[in-house]
Amino acid sequence: MNDPHRKGAPARAHDVRDLLRELFPETHRELFGEQDAARSAPPTLGLYPVADGRLALVHGEQLAEFTPLDPKTRGALHCDLCHYTRSRSEAALYRVQVGARRTRYVTLCTATEGCQKRAGTRGLESLAERIFPIEPIGPGDH
Ligand SMILES: [Zn+2]
Repeated sequence: MNDPHRKGAPARAHDVRDLLRELFPETHRELFGEQDAARSAPPTLGLYPVADGRLALVHGEQLAEFTPLDPKTRGALHCDLCHYTRSRSEAALYRVQVGARRTRYVTLCTATEGCQKRAGTRGLESLAERIFPIEPIGPGDH
């Protein structure tokens, strides 16, 4: 039943790899883990509606909260993500706290799903580059 001639060459490369993963998970992660992770799971990137009309920008482990403001202008708004020109009912100005004393203002479509589709991953990446990294806000910095 255990005939090596019928089974062909034992221990092909991927078998060794599976064995490594089982017996030495640490070593396996060092050798293959990061490559595998990068290939199979790109970092999360997207805008997600949260409570009170706010949006959360998530990029991997990082998160920024966008708080809607009442725009002072009465004219059209220009979305910083999909770069469409929107009326005041279709977009909003958001404030993002990026550090203890640093704030960014971003105009985004309120219908964020369509906006993100128009912008695509590239658009979201360049928005994330403008926002992240966020400086940690210390307890005495309010
Ligand atoms: Zn937009």
